[in-house]
Amino acid sequence: MLPEMLSEDTIAAVSTPPGRGGIGIVRLSGERALAIAGELIRWGARELAPQRAVVGEFVDPEAHHTEGRSSAGGEVLDQVVCTYFRKPHSYTAEDIVEMACHGSPVVLARLLECCLARGARAAEPGEFTMRAFLNGRIDLAQAEAVRDLIDARTLFQARVAARQMEGAVSERIKPYKQKLTELIAVLEAGIDFADDDVPLMPWDEVGGRIEACARDLEELSQGFTVGRMIHEGLSLAIVGRPNVGKSSLFNRLLDQDRAIVTSTPGTTRDLVTESANIGGIPLRLVDTAGIRSSAEEIESIGIRKSFQAIADSDLALVVLDGSQALTEEDRELIQKVAPLGRMLVAVNKTDLPAKMEDSDVRALATGNGASIVQTSALTGENVPELRERILATALPVRELESGSGYITNLRHQQLIRRAVEALRKALKGAEQEIPHEMILLDLYNGLHSLDEITGQTATEDILGLIFSRFCIGK
Ligand code: GDP
Repeated sequence: MLPEMLSEDTIAAVSTPPGRGGIGIVRLSGERALAIAGELIRWGARELAPQRAVVGEFVDPEAHHTEGRSSAGGEVLDQVVCTYFRKPHSYTAEDIVEMACHGSPVVLARLLECCLARGARAAEPGEFTMRAFLNGRIDLAQAEAVRDLIDARTLFQARVAARQMEGAVSERIKPYKQKLTELIAVLEAGIDFADDDVPLMPWDEVGGRIEACARDLEELSQGFTVGRMIHEGLSLAIVGRPNVGKSSLFNRLLDQDRAIVTSTPGTTRDLVTESANIGGIPLRLVDTAGIRSSAEEIESIGIRKSFQAIADSDLALVVLDGSQALTEEDRELIQKVAPLGRMLVAVNKTDLPAKMEDSDVRALATGNGASIVQTSALTGENVPELRERILATALPVRELESGSGYITNLRHQQLIRRAVEALRKALKGAEQEIPHEMILLDLYNGLHSLDEITGQTATEDILGLIFSRFCIGK
C-alpha cells in the first residue's frame, strides 16, 4: 500500500453525471468536509449530524446584490439535502458530506466552485475510490469492481461486478496466497536452521505442493475466456450467402431484449440501446461484409480481413436458406469457417416450404463440428433456442450464475499467469533439488504477483493507471 499517495487535501466533485436531472450531488471528502459544507449550507430546523440526511439551503456567499431572495449572508440558490458520513464509516473512510441539490448544472458548478474557494481541491478521476483503497477500506480488486459496476451494460455484468465489489476476487485467490505463504515459511525455516537437525520438507512434497498450486491457478486463469466474455461481451460473426436472412436474424436476436427492456417500467432509453445481449452477455456483431464468395474475389483483402474477423470472434453463425437446396457456396463457406473457431449453423426460413435436404445439412454441419438450429427470422420461430445455443456454444460452461468465480479483469489474469510462471520455475528448481534460497525467490515472485491483484504490492504507476479510468466524482 502507498500511504504517501494519500494527500491531506479535502477533495470535492460533482458526483452525478453531467447534464440536467432531478437531483445532482456535490461530494466532499476529507478533514475539512464538514467545515466547508457548514460555510455554504444554512441549516433549517436541524443541524447536520452523522449518518442522517438534513435539509438546508445553499447560500451563495458572494451574491449580495442580486435581486430575488437575498439576505445579508448571500443569496439562496437551492434547497439541498445533505448527508454527513463521519469517518471511518464512509465510502472513503474519511469525513464525507454529500450535498444533493436539484440537478441543475449551473447550481452544481457554483456549489463546487464555492467548495474550492473554501479550500477544497477538485477531485481527480476515481479519487474517492482511490482513497477508500489507500485507507484500507477496500482492496484494489474491489475498487476495480466499482468501476466495472458503473460501466456495466447488462444486469448480469452488474451482478458479477457487485460480487467482486464484495471481495469475490480476493476470496478466490486467498487460499493460494495462504498455501504459498505456508510453503515459504517452511522453506525459510529450513534455511534458518540449516545447521541444526530440523528436518526439511522432502523434495517431492515441496514439488507436489507447488505443482498443485500452479495447476489451480492455471485453471483460474483459463476461466478468463469466460470472464472476458462477461466483461467485454460475446463477439458474433454472422455469415452466409446474400439474402439468407442474416440481418433479419440478428435483428431478431436483439429484438427480444428490446421488448423485455421497454416493457419494464422505469427503464430508460439508454438501457434500451445498451441491451443487445444474450443471457446478460453483451452481444457484439462482427463485421464480415467482405465475404462475397465469388471466385475472382477470393484473394481480395476484404475477404481475408473478414475471415480474420471470424477467426477472432467468439462464435461464427453460418446462416443457410432452408427454402432452397444446399449450394456449393454453402458447403464451401462451412468448410472454410469450421477451422476458424466455434461455429453454429442456422437453417433459416422454416416458415417456407423446405427445399434443403435435412440429411445433407446434418452431415455437413456435424462433419464440421457444428450443431444446427432451424429458425425463421420472419416469424421468430426458434429464435429463443438460437440464443440459447449461441450462448452454450460460445461459452461452454454449465452455470453462468457462478460468474462471480471468474476472473473478468485482464490485469488480474495477467498477474495470475505471472504467478503460474514463477511457480513453474520454482517447481523446476524443486525437481532439480537446487538450494532452497533459489526456489524461495520464485515463490516470493509468485506471491508478489497475487498480492498485486489485491493491491498490497501495487506501484504508484499502476494505481494511477487504474484510477484514471474512473469517472470524476467516484
Ligand atoms: P441477408 O442478406 O442475409 O442479411 O438477408 P436479409 O436479412 O436482408 O433477408 C433477405 C430477405 O429474406 C428479406 O426480404 C427478408 O425479409 C427475408 N427473410 C429473412 N428471413 C426470413 C425468414 O425466416 N422467412 C422468410 N419467409 N423470409 C425471410
